[in-house]
Amino acid sequence: MKRSVLSAALGLALAAGLAVLPTTAAAAATPAPAVQGYTASTYAGSAAEAANNQAFFQAVMASAKAKQAANPNLATVVVTYDASSAPTFRNQISQAAQIWNSSVGNVQLRSGSGGDFAYYEGNDSRGSYASTDGHGRGYVFLDYQQNRQYNSVRVTAHETGHVLGLPDHYSGPCSELMSGGGPGTSCTNPYPNSTERSRVNSLWARG
Ligand SMILES: [Zn+2]
Repeated sequence: MKRSVLSAALGLALAAGLAVLPTTAAAAATPAPAVQGYTASTYAGSAAEAANNQAFFQAVMASAKAKQAANPNLATVVVTYDASSAPTFRNQISQAAQIWNSSVGNVQLRSGSGGDFAYYEGNDSRGSYASTDGHGRGYVFLDYQQNRQYNSVRVTAHETGHVLGLPDHYSGPCSELMSGGGPGTSCTNPYPNSTERSRVNSLWARG
């Protein structure tokens, strides 16, 4: 019964076109959230943007490694994500995590509460993006329209790639995950290529 009430409330929020965002991000007037998107049309890939994306990655890594330090027997760094605020994309988020977990060994994604980062969903003219407030907290925003226009698993895996430290490379081919929307809407590949896998493994290598 509680589920139906929650669903109804969520439905109203979605009908009103409200993006379900962290209150901290919504309340922060300045600085503007740092974002790294799926398409080049909105995000030109400035140096500042790349730096902000790097800050986001480092914040996620610091959070994950702090937990690992408390449990030094862990063979890999575990990054926990909270997908409860993106119920529409439950399957895509799960698939994106499986793709990354089967692609790299030095870091693994796990679903759970109190995550290192969270997924949110809603409507945003900027499309989907990874964002940080610059204070150690980050999230991935998944835009409804863009996820209908482009392959949704690829969009989700791409944004998750930012969490794992990869930058955008819109000029790349469809076989490259971080080329994002560059190869167009017909590109449905949700897998990182060997170069991207190696880079993530290097970024998360212990020591
Ligand atoms: Zn991107």
